[in-house]
Amino acid sequence: MTINVIIIGGGLNGLTTAVSLAQSKQTVTLFEQQPQLGGAAQTGPGDVGQLDMVPMALVEQLGLSFIEPPALVTAVQADGPALTLWRDEARTVAELRQFSQQDADRYPDFCREVIALGTQWQQWLAQPAPNLATADSPTFLAWIQNMNGGTEADSAQRLKLWHTAALSLRHYLRRWFESDLLHGALAAGPLFGVCYGPWADHTTHHLLSQTGPDTVRAVRLVQGGVGALAQALAERAAGLGVTIETETAVSHILLENGRAVGVGLSDGRTVQASQVISSAGLRHTLFNLVGAANLEPRTVRRLRSRVYRGSTSQLNLRLRRLPRFNGVADTDALTGHIVVAPSLAYLEKAADAGKYGRIAPDPVLDMMLPTLSDPTLAPPAEHILYVTIQHTPYQLRQGEWDEAQRNGLAQQIIAQLGRYSPGLPQQIIDWQLTTPLDYEQQFGLSEGHIHQGQRELGQMGMLRPLPGCGPYETPIANLTLCGAATNGVKREV
Ligand SMILES: Cc1cc2nc3c(=O)[nH]c(=O)nc-3n(C[C@H](O)[C@H](O)[C@H](O)COP(=O)(O)OP(=O)(O)OC[C@H]3O[C@@H](n4cnc5c(N)ncnc54)[C@H](O)[C@@H]3O)c2cc1C
Repeated sequence: MTINVIIIGGGLNGLTTAVSLAQSKQTVTLFEQQPQLGGAAQTGPGDVGQLDMVPMALVEQLGLSFIEPPALVTAVQADGPALTLWRDEARTVAELRQFSQQDADRYPDFCREVIALGTQWQQWLAQPAPNLATADSPTFLAWIQNMNGGTEADSAQRLKLWHTAALSLRHYLRRWFESDLLHGALAAGPLFGVCYGPWADHTTHHLLSQTGPDTVRAVRLVQGGVGALAQALAERAAGLGVTIETETAVSHILLENGRAVGVGLSDGRTVQASQVISSAGLRHTLFNLVGAANLEPRTVRRLRSRVYRGSTSQLNLRLRRLPRFNGVADTDALTGHIVVAPSLAYLEKAADAGKYGRIAPDPVLDMMLPTLSDPTLAPPAEHILYVTIQHTPYQLRQGEWDEAQRNGLAQQIIAQLGRYSPGLPQQIIDWQLTTPLDYEQQFGLSEGHIHQGQRELGQMGMLRPLPGCGPYETPIANLTLCGAATNGVKREV
């Protein structure tokens, strides 16, 4: 049997690509180095409200159930009332009145603007960007004009979209609202995985990337967690004839006359194929699997200048019982994201510490309690709290990510949580921490960046994966990418 395609990596995007290609009658083999499928996302809570390239239509076809929790985000305080942004806009407006009448009055118009711009932004990003090096002017112009259909009547809307996307979150949110807690509730999510704070230019495009069709933040849990989604994708792929080998690392990509012709595996086997597709990141694929010696010096320079700067750590806690949070009266408020981000200044200070290689004394936390909506994820009465810790730099100014550093961070966060949820530290049965270094070592994510490279404007659209390459291309013939390192074009299935 001749293998048409080898896929490197069984994360959500590698599995989706396998299904897509097998449906078009390609013979596909997928190699995943880890024992489990699902990639980096399996370490988190399974909010699939926004998945970079997995089409929601496919996720729905797999027969999985989804939970759309009543709460989108709850911003908690150490001493003071919490603020919940509910899926139900009228309920949010009522709650906002205790913080600011003006903010309550403006919230519906804000939602309408952000959802309209977010829809446009996401639709535009989801179409293939032209190759900067080869596209002629009409192709390039057509791509720009495709934003919101590209008619003349939309030019004002296009202008507004670009202007908004280029603003800092601080600038944009302060234009609308005065309440610190509302600013924090709206800014924490968009800065997930981002190494900058809300004062940095262009950070509003992250807000536009996270909106749902009718909510300011898309929040949707898959029943059974990311593991269930990965399993369902793997079963669909296997049903279509895809061969999947786990615990099988690709050690290098075989080249002949500068073209990829197969892979070498860590167990010594070599496998030939007419096409190699990597769902690992660009730098990892080219430097570690192709080898810098096989690349043009210009490509090596460009790769070195890509911004990765992973800064996300994940602390997962097993709890004896449901935690209570200060200022939260209704348990439903804990069904969405629970954030510790009481103001824009708090977010900026935490990002500043990370910028200089330190961890802030009070980091920004983005938590989820999926067991509240899906009790099947834990034994009866127990709960799992997923705590994403922002701005924990891959490169520490002092020391390394050794056991002492890891324990220190876990204990710091557990103590911090105790101020927002008294009694929580005593309810911990077990904890597990994944640092940026762990993401690099376990999943091949360069500098531990969970999106395989910062999604800043200079690294998106036609500038992703690399200026001068098409949406999935690499500089090596027959070697393409299909993971988060590409520009987020959703695949047809
Ligand atoms: C806690 C957390 C929450 C997240 N939440 C979201 C979210 O809500 N929305 C979103 O869009 N994204 C989210 N992400 C980012 C998420 O990881 C990506 O969106 C998406 O899952 C990326 O999938 P992928 O298949 O492209 O890459 P990865 O998940 O990075 O998978 C790549 C796979 O390739 C394997 N691999 C690498 N090198 C080799 C090799 N040499 N041989 C064999 N296998 C190899 C790795 O082990 C890995 O399994 C989150 C990430 C984390 C960590």
